Amino acid sequence: MIDLHTHSSASDGTQPPAALVAAAVAAGLDALALTDHDTTRGWDEAARAARRTGMTLVPGIEVSCARDHRSVHLLAYLPDPQHPDLLAELGEARASRATRLDAMVERMEADGVPVSVDAVRAEVEDGATPGRPHIADALVRAGVVEHRDEAFDRWLGDASPYYVAHYAPDPVRAVEVVRAAGGVPVVAHPHSRTRTGVVAVELIEEMAAAGLAGLEVYHRDHDERAVHELTDLAGALDLLVTGSSDYHGEGKLNRLGEYTTTPEVLAAIEDLATGTRVVRP
Ligand code: AMP
Ligand code: ZN
Ligand code: FE
Ligand code: FE
Repeated sequence: MIDLHTHSSASDGTQPPAALVAAAVAAGLDALALTDHDTTRGWDEAARAARRTGMTLVPGIEVSCARDHRSVHLLAYLPDPQHPDLLAELGEARASRATRLDAMVERMEADGVPVSVDAVRAEVEDGATPGRPHIADALVRAGVVEHRDEAFDRWLGDASPYYVAHYAPDPVRAVEVVRAAGGVPVVAHPHSRTRTGVVAVELIEEMAAAGLAGLEVYHRDHDERAVHELTDLAGALDLLVTGSSDYHGEGKLNRLGEYTTTPEVLAAIEDLATGTRVVRP
C-alpha cells in the first residue's frame, strides 16, 4: 500500500514526522510520502525514522498556489530542497501565512471569539508552517470547541468573514519551479469543493503544458463523478493518476492508506525526479 499525501507537525498535522512514520508502519503501508504545506522541514526526521523502521519514504511538499483568489494545492515529489527559486517561493508563502494567521485571529478576537495571537502561536511548532488548523487547536485547548472540524464549521471555513488569504504563487509558476528543482508536480485533490469551486479544466491544461506530471484522482473529497471526470482528464492529458489519504493525524477523519497509489505510478514518479531520492530501507 502506497500513500503519497500526508502531513506532520512540520505544518498542520498533529504528529511529529517520526510518529507519522510509525503510524504508517502500524497501518501496513509499504511507502509513504510526507507532503507538509510549504515546507521540507520534516524530511530529515522522517527519513531517519523510515530507515529505522523499514518504511519507504518519498520526500514531498504540498505547495500552496492561487490564481484569481482561487486556491490550488500542488504536490511536489522529490524536488531538490535547496533549489533557490523553490526556497524563495516556500519562504514567502510561510511568512505570509504567519501574518495572515495573526490577521484572522485579530478579526476573530475583535468580534468576541475567545482566542488570541499568543494562544494560536503556541500551537505552532518552532519553524513549522502555520495554518488555520492551529487556530482550531487553540480553540480546542481553551475548551471552546471539541475538535478542529467544529472550529472550521463555526469560524474558519473558506466562506467565513474572518478568512484572510495569504501569498501563494500562480499554479503554472509553481509547476515550473517544482520542475526546475527536479521535482514531480501533481495537482492535489483538484475537485475539493471550496468557496470558489473546483480547479478548472483550462487551468489543469495550462499546468500540463508547463510540465505537470499527474492528478490526485482518488481522495476523500472526490465523489464518483469527480473520479470519473479526473480519470478521463488524466487520460486525455497523459497525466499520472495517484490516490492518497491527506492524513493530518488526529485532527481529521482521514485514515492512512484510505486511498492509495499503484507501485507503477510511484516508479514513474521516481523516474521523472532528479531533485531528491526516495529513502529506501
Ligand atoms: P490553510 O492552509 O491555513 O488555508 O488551512 C487549510 C487546512 O485546513 C487544510 O490543510 C485542511 O486540511 C485543513 N482543514 C480544512 N477544513 C478542515 C476541517 N473541516 N477540519 C479540520 N481541518 C480542516
Ligand atoms: Zn493541512
Ligand atoms: Fe490540500
Ligand atoms: Fe494536504
